Amino acid sequence: MTQPPAPFHHPSLSYEVFPPNTQVGAERLTHTLNDLAELKPDFISVTCSNRQPNIEETTLKVANHVQNTLHIPTIAHLPAMYLSKERVADSLDSLDQLGIRRVLALRGDILEGLEPVGDFSYAEELIHFIKERKPHFDITAACYPEVHPDAPNAVADIRFLKRKVDAGVDRLITQLFFDNDCFYHFQEKCALANIEVPILAGIMPIVNRNQALRLLTTCETTKLPRKFKAILDKYEHEPQALRAAGLAYALDQIVDLITQGADGIHLYTMNQSDTAHYIADAAKALFK
Ligand code: FAD
Repeated sequence: MTQPPAPFHHPSLSYEVFPPNTQVGAERLTHTLNDLAELKPDFISVTCSNRQPNIEETTLKVANHVQNTLHIPTIAHLPAMYLSKERVADSLDSLDQLGIRRVLALRGDILEGLEPVGDFSYAEELIHFIKERKPHFDITAACYPEVHPDAPNAVADIRFLKRKVDAGVDRLITQLFFDNDCFYHFQEKCALANIEVPILAGIMPIVNRNQALRLLTTCETTKLPRKFKAILDKYEHEPQALRAAGLAYALDQIVDLITQGADGIHLYTMNQSDTAHYIADAAKALFK
């Protein structure tokens, strides 16, 4: 019987990367991963687009490199809304054969004009499926301190999250946020709902204008504190100042979160290892 993977440190420090879709991106990711490996993170998670659900050619390749070449634990993201049960079963077998037994079980975003397969309408169903087929897998799930946009309301969102966790989740990773108070209120709501698994805080350092603009158009429900908005406004056209202030803001968030006892930090790296290096170097002593 295969043993479940070992637990992570407390607090943990981990990174998210995405599989590239160009040759240039692939070369850049190789450098990024080599750099990230030097930081000896608790794990590196690898996203999976549900537009291109060919996990073997994308997520699995990168996750295999992380775990079996760089010897860093990896978590493979698995959005299942557009996959059949057979397809998910095959992907789980492929992961198992590679020794990758940690997955981030997701529903995935609803894509306009694409009909869902219907086998997995919510992440909870996927988690039941994984538990049944691969009881030795370690399962992470997503959560939303500022409420998932499709949820009817905050109470329903927490109730659904409780069901998802009870289906067999080992830890949660949050959607990015810039206001730590949202995270602390969310922790309290989880405690009241008896959601007791570790909650890793998802932090994205904003280091360039494109990232800032994307954030403003895609994360409509994310609260932007006055201090953070002032950085975006003042340094919009000053790349070096924006980068310096964005990194300092993320570091400040992380110091506060770890000081207040957060279970870990998951850094959305956008495949840039220099931001991860900045944070890891500055905050190393907090993660011992
Ligand atoms: P679920 O937990 O299934 O929840 C989705 C919505 O349905 C919520 O509003 C919830 O309240 C509601 N709900 C849940 N259960 C029920 C029920 N039984 N009845 C009615 N409503 C219900 N997307 C990708 O495509 N690829 C990735 O690699 C990826 N990585 C991510 C990593 C993290 C850390 C996070 C936070 C998100 C990631 N996403 C990714 C985005 C994610 O797929 C979307 O946010 C998606 O819309 C929700 O996925 P979920 O697994 O959280 O959904």
